[in-house]
Amino acid sequence: MALIVQKYGGTSVGSIDRIRNVAGRMKRTRDEGNRVVAVVSAMSGVTDELIKLAKELCDNPSEREVDVLLATGEQQSIALVSIALQTLGVDSASITGGQAGIFTTGSHTRGRISNMDPSLMMKYLAEGKTLVVAGFQGTTLEGMVHTLGRGGSDLTAIAVAAALKADVCQILTDVDGVYTCDPRIVKNARKLPEISYDEMLEMASSGSKVMQSRSVEFAKKFGVIFEVRSSLNDNPGTLVLEEHPNMENVVIRGISIERSQARVTISGIPDQPGMSGRILGALAEAEINLDMIVSNISNEDRSKHSFTMHSTDLGKAQAALKPVLAELSKDAKIETEAGIAKLSAVGIGMRSHSGVAATMFKALGDKGINIGMISTSEIKIAVTVDEVHIEDAARAVHDAFGLDKEPV
Ligand code: ADP
Ligand code: ASP
Ligand code: MG
Repeated sequence: MALIVQKYGGTSVGSIDRIRNVAGRMKRTRDEGNRVVAVVSAMSGVTDELIKLAKELCDNPSEREVDVLLATGEQQSIALVSIALQTLGVDSASITGGQAGIFTTGSHTRGRISNMDPSLMMKYLAEGKTLVVAGFQGTTLEGMVHTLGRGGSDLTAIAVAAALKADVCQILTDVDGVYTCDPRIVKNARKLPEISYDEMLEMASSGSKVMQSRSVEFAKKFGVIFEVRSSLNDNPGTLVLEEHPNMENVVIRGISIERSQARVTISGIPDQPGMSGRILGALAEAEINLDMIVSNISNEDRSKHSFTMHSTDLGKAQAALKPVLAELSKDAKIETEAGIAKLSAVGIGMRSHSGVAATMFKALGDKGINIGMISTSEIKIAVTVDEVHIEDAARAVHDAFGLDKEPV
């Protein structure tokens, strides 16, 4: 008897009909002779709605209370899915993150899984039960509720699959796999039969929200092979696994976009040791996550530093930088720009092929799209463009690499 972990996202449990569909699918998997553990998200829109309610009371609600509040979204959906299963005659049990033995450390709203104790899940499975586990939540050793960051049910599913040594882990969602680009944006995007952990991680962390990036890191660390597929049909999905030699033949696996980015540029800083450390230190202290960082020396031994961040952090960044810049130089100048977006091309084949950046930049140039900043890693080239051009940019780069066609 195989053990199958299935994760159903918010859209897949977004209505009572969809919940019936999930229960039916779980029953079918069970009737085929498998043991089934589902991890489910809150019904679509519920998490956002709960955040909105808290913000109606207070601009900056306590993260401890936000965690307690948000965890209720998943608790509603596990109970509903379990009730739906029971109406189909399936012996099922809903299980919260804490009951599933998902122990967390770190901060509220972005807890990290430190340890798993799957004993209750194993006991129930041994009794023949079908399980419905709440995604996105765990508890600290003291019993405090933690959530695992937005999209965190993916992480729960991978962790549960690892802890139970599941034979199969399926991420069931509203698309039938990982595509060469978000199919909502690039209509001729192609479903990938497989993608390596590293590529999926780069795509997820540069805006392809089909998987939460931390869940992919976890899967890689614990060697959990998983499949992304549709909760509404039986089409084969995309397998996410360790890279193998054939994978390098494809230069670019996919394109990601990330909107709502902002840039801060600081100029007039003396070109002396320690300056970058002071500037980045101030931003780190203000808990601002920087993405791209570019520094250069301009004229008269002055340096220039540009960073990108999420646009919601722009005000906080300006406030954090002001006092430091005043200390560093009377000539220091700060400029900001919102309304930019990032486009990333990802592929492990890039390591052994040249000319990838040139193809990408030419495609953008031919469309008259201006490139702001550029950053590269071994398997990624990313650029910023004006946010209004991001969809055209994604389509142009997708075409330039022929991603709509099967690789030869
Ligand atoms: P769930 O609620 O099931 O967790 P998400 O909304 O988090 O689902 O993720 C699925 C969505 O991810 C799709 O509807 C799709 O628009 C988006 N997406 C972004 N990039 C990609 C990609 N490269 N391939 C497939 N889907 C993508
Ligand atoms: N409900 C949570 C969210 O909306 C977790 C998830 O859906 O994976 O982010
Ligand atoms: Mg998701």
